[in-house]
Amino acid sequence: MTTPPWDASYTSGTLPPWDIGRPQPAFVRLADDGLLRGRVLDAGCGTGEHALLAAARGADALGVDVAPTAIERARSKAAERGLAARFEVADVLNLADLGLTFDTVIDSGLFHVFDDADRTRYVASLAEVVRDGGRCYLMCFSDRQPGDFGPRRVSQEELRAAFDGGWRIAGITANSFEINLLGGHTGAQAWLAAIERTADAAPPAGADSPA
Ligand code: SAH
Repeated sequence: MTTPPWDASYTSGTLPPWDIGRPQPAFVRLADDGLLRGRVLDAGCGTGEHALLAAARGADALGVDVAPTAIERARSKAAERGLAARFEVADVLNLADLGLTFDTVIDSGLFHVFDDADRTRYVASLAEVVRDGGRCYLMCFSDRQPGDFGPRRVSQEELRAAFDGGWRIAGITANSFEINLLGGHTGAQAWLAAIERTADAAPPAGADSPA
């Protein structure tokens, strides 16, 4: 198997800007509110801090990422910290291959890496594995973040458009990412979205109704 380009972010010796060595404060607050619960998927988990956070709070947590080096590091952290979080190399565009369903999905800085086509595939892939009533907590770069450093900016309208069928947006709030840059910590404007999986739309009018 060829090593995906994302792996290079984790092999250079310096941590990538998004890897702050601890969970993003926004997700710590969700954990404090008891919202990272049940079977939790950390999608695009990197070196695993959010899956580890969920596991530390009692969730059954799995982190997946395409970068094998990140997954190795996440497994080492779990062992060092004595946490039961599991980590697998997997593509979030094909989550059904995991053969699992989830109550909660954590997306910290994943959604904003995708172009329009992969964004659609990602949301469809999530729909395969999130149970009805399950929730995704998604934090992405915001269109309020000035400049063009870093990932693609996302607007609230784009979030609503991406999750428009089979999902309900429970809320989108302004938040921020902590990032490592030039040896110091700084912030970037983000949107934190809470998105609930709802039963798929009713069959079209005229479809056979159950006898
Ligand atoms: N959630 C982590 C990492 C965010 S950076 C954190 O908060 O630190 C985005 C991550 O998504 C990278 O680790 C990258 O390897 C991963 N990624 C990108 N495309 C992916 C895909 N198709 N499937 C799984 N992981 C992916």
